[in-house]
Amino acid sequence: MSREHTIPLIHLVGAGPGDPELLTVKAIRAIRQATVLLVDDLVGAGVLRYARRSARIVDVGKRGGCASTPQVFIERLMAAEAMRGERVVRLKGGDPFVFGRGGEEVAHLRALGLEVEVVNGITAGLAAATSIDVPLTHRDHAHGVLFVTGHARSDSRAAAIDWPSIAAAAASGITIVVYMGIATAEALQAGLASRLAGSTPVAIVQNASLPQQRHAICRLDELAAVVAHERFGAPAIIVVGDVVRAAAALAKPGERADMAPAQAA
Ligand code: SAH
Repeated sequence: MSREHTIPLIHLVGAGPGDPELLTVKAIRAIRQATVLLVDDLVGAGVLRYARRSARIVDVGKRGGCASTPQVFIERLMAAEAMRGERVVRLKGGDPFVFGRGGEEVAHLRALGLEVEVVNGITAGLAAATSIDVPLTHRDHAHGVLFVTGHARSDSRAAAIDWPSIAAAAASGITIVVYMGIATAEALQAGLASRLAGSTPVAIVQNASLPQQRHAICRLDELAAVVAHERFGAPAIIVVGDVVRAAAALAKPGERADMAPAQAA
């Protein structure tokens, strides 16, 4: 039982892209102190090595049993455990506030009168780029970076993903980092091609920071074909922009061949 706080405190912790070495010191401390951990699918298994043996680990991701644990259930469970005096840590992949629904969770928990502390994690887009030496804002190639979701939902909000505007931003020198873009790679390629040259370099990084990480570099007009041919699947990040070319310049001698555009299927 935690008596340190008069108001129950829940930690919303970014678990980073998977490699436990990429956890923050704050995250490790929170995980170590937790008596109950609610864990998402994309949290690397190695991260849980910091949990106490006695801690209760609740898998609330899709692989946990239910198709996907409803958000309301997760929030209620967190609140109930915290009110009982448990030290609750909600572990989310990457950073809790980057496509992680962390904002909704904080709002709901605070509305219930709970205290919430959010701990940053290294978001997958940053980890993916760095893992293949892509400097996202290399000043010779870009003056900014845009994190965008490629997840097409059937509701009207998702239809609002405005690829031509995103392509226009990319054409003006903004690097595009796409989360959840593998399933919709074809739409993404077509949408970006409205304003970008087919030769624009693209990188696909699957399982960034994990031992099973793999990547490909190709041209924008090859993207969907490479995803299909190389059987890329989630979780993966797609980086679009000339900074991908800059990675070749950073490659060590002998590694340059790896950076050549992949052959389209
Ligand atoms: N909050 C997370 C993102 C959650 S959305 C973060 O900040 O990273 C889920 C998407 O994140 C996946 O579909 C994929 O696009 C990306 N992702 C998460 N982990 C990844 C990894 N290890 N490698 C590549 N992409 C990853």
